[in-house]
This record gives sequence, C-alpha cells and structure tokens, in this order.
Amino acid sequence: MTVPSVPIVPVPVVPVSGSDTPFPVRRIWCVGQNYAEHAREMGSDPDRAPPFFFSKPADAVVPGGGVLAYPTQTAALHHEVELVVAIGVGGEGIAPEQALQHVFGYAVGLDMTRRDLQAEAKRAGRPWALAKGFDQSCPLSPIVPVAEAGHPDRGAITLTVDGVLRQSGDLSQMVWSVGEAIAFLSRFVFLAPGDLLMTGTPAGVGPVRPGEVVTGACAGVGEVTISYRVR
Ligand code: MN
Repeated sequence: MTVPSVPIVPVPVVPVSGSDTPFPVRRIWCVGQNYAEHAREMGSDPDRAPPFFFSKPADAVVPGGGVLAYPTQTAALHHEVELVVAIGVGGEGIAPEQALQHVFGYAVGLDMTRRDLQAEAKRAGRPWALAKGFDQSCPLSPIVPVAEAGHPDRGAITLTVDGVLRQSGDLSQMVWSVGEAIAFLSRFVFLAPGDLLMTGTPAGVGPVRPGEVVTGACAGVGEVTISYRVR
C-alpha cells in the first residue's frame, strides 16, 4: 500500500528591519475593541470589561502588503489598522509589569474583516472565525525590533484610503495597554516565541473596494499598503 504524502509547509515568516533573519509566525492573537471610540462605533460600551480575544491562522500574514484578491463570500470587507506586537520570549501567567520583556518587536498590521459575516455571527452567537481568520487577512509591515522601536505607547496610528484619512487615533488611547493585554492573554495560553498580538483598532473602520489603495501607519513603527483586484 502506498500512502500519499502531504508536503510539510514552511512556517510563515515576516521580515525584520535591520536583520537578515526573519520572524517566524506561530499564531496570531487579536484583541477586540481596544479603543473606546471603536467600541462605541461597533455598538458596545467601552467599560474596561476584561479584554476578549480571537485569532487568525499564522498563514494569514501578508508580509509587506501588495495587491491581493478581494475575498470571496463578503460584500463588506473592512479595514482595521493595528499596532502588532511580536513575542520573542514565551511565558504563561506573565505579570503586567514584566510583560514588555517578552516583546521582540512591533509592526503595523491590518486586521481585515468580513464585516457582514461578523455581524451575522454576532447576531447568531456564532464564532468569528470566517469573518476574521480568512486567507491573507493580516497584511503586515516589517517587524521593527525593540532596540529600534522601543515600546511605543503613544503616537499616531492612522489609515488612509486613496489618500483620504479614514482612521486616526493615538496608541495612548488603548483601553488595555500592550503589557496588560500580554499579561491577560498569558493567563489562558502559553504565549510562545513567534506569536503575534494585534492590539485593536481606533475608530473609523469602513469598507475597502477593489482598486482603492489602503495604507496603515503607526508612528515610529512603519506602514503597510494594500489594494484589491476583483476576483
Ligand atoms: Mn481588530
């Protein structure tokens, strides 16, 4: 009997600024509604209830952005620009005041969202997996190591569509800081080297149409640009 073999797929990697060694992506964790104005625009009350998390598969990363295929099964693909934390040192039960020691670096990322499917899932009390964790749903800038970026906790985070400002916030407006989010998540999973943590988006999310040029930027970290072609 001949058993067919399935090729072993290499780990997705993201370039690291100033280094020839890329960052291997293990998992992508995402914080929901971490800016008060965005929580309000999604119909929630930002009352500093405990943070909640969802995830994307590691191979959702699109290093450097570029021209992508518009996803199937949606008529409302939305942009969300986010500061992304790259975990370099693993741990569980991490104390908030120790949490930044686990950070390798930072990137700016886009948490692309099938908003229509997400709304349907919310109504039905179902998971967000296909609304959030689809192919190419995480375009990312190169990762800037802590030695270069420091630990950005203030500064502009913006997104433009065809040069028009659509999302504008400041990292200091996060409901849960980077350290607090790491600490909280590490109570539920062993945070591992290679994990990415998307830290939430400021207000102004909205649709992206084929042909539009979308640029997300985070002061001191970088930027990433994408556009969609019609399938
Ligand atoms: Mn998001």
